[in-house]
Amino acid sequence: MHARLLTVCFLLLLLLLPTLALAQSKKPQDVIKTDAGDVTITFLGHGTLMLQWQGKVIHIDPWTAQADYSTLPKADLVLVTHEHRDHLDMGAIEAIRKDGTLFAASLKASASLGGTTVLKNGDSKTFLGIRVDAVPAYNREHMRSPGVPFHPKGEGNGYVLHFGSTRIYVAGDTEVVPEMAALKGVDVAFLPVNLPYTMTADMLVEAAKLMQPKVLYPYHTGDTDLDKLQARLKDVPGVETRIRPMK
Ligand code: ZN
Ligand code: ZN
Repeated sequence: MHARLLTVCFLLLLLLLPTLALAQSKKPQDVIKTDAGDVTITFLGHGTLMLQWQGKVIHIDPWTAQADYSTLPKADLVLVTHEHRDHLDMGAIEAIRKDGTLFAASLKASASLGGTTVLKNGDSKTFLGIRVDAVPAYNREHMRSPGVPFHPKGEGNGYVLHFGSTRIYVAGDTEVVPEMAALKGVDVAFLPVNLPYTMTADMLVEAAKLMQPKVLYPYHTGDTDLDKLQARLKDVPGVETRIRPMK
């Protein structure tokens, strides 16, 4: 009888294992309340996010290195900040494309994507009831070679997405730039912090002070020491820093 009970327990465990594995592979999510309904953010990793709002699915810079896109909801809108491989990945895009998927991208990134709306720095366009502003993303200090920045000014975009009166800013690959002053008081900001391509911790603190987002998510974090970073951001008043797995 005892042995039979053990067998039953073992079988139950076997049945549960796939569920447990699935729960573990599930990516973390946060919900942002807006006056136009909740926005659910899924933290897929690195510079890669999925936003869901009013039944619509928005993928930003999808990259197969971060997620199995065959298991993720198909995209109603895909936003691509720039053409680097960790931001523009046709494998990921093919996996989430469906009839009617809308695409918006920087000019260089649009070359690989058919039927894409090209957004230049300063452009705004509304997709699915979401206004999207393309804002500058570039390096001022970090250079690929002398005089050649990793991200030249005028090429890549960050995006500000408007959900009702709530603004969510996904910065793309950028350093702290003067144009960020115009984003003061943004509700949620995703700012990149890894070297040599994006911001130092000092730059991130400067950007946080300049913009004073209500919520700041460091993302595209690479090998950055996140504990140290969070400790430094405690000095920025009014900004709630949330660390999520975005290596
Ligand atoms: Zn880049
Ligand atoms: Zn990048």
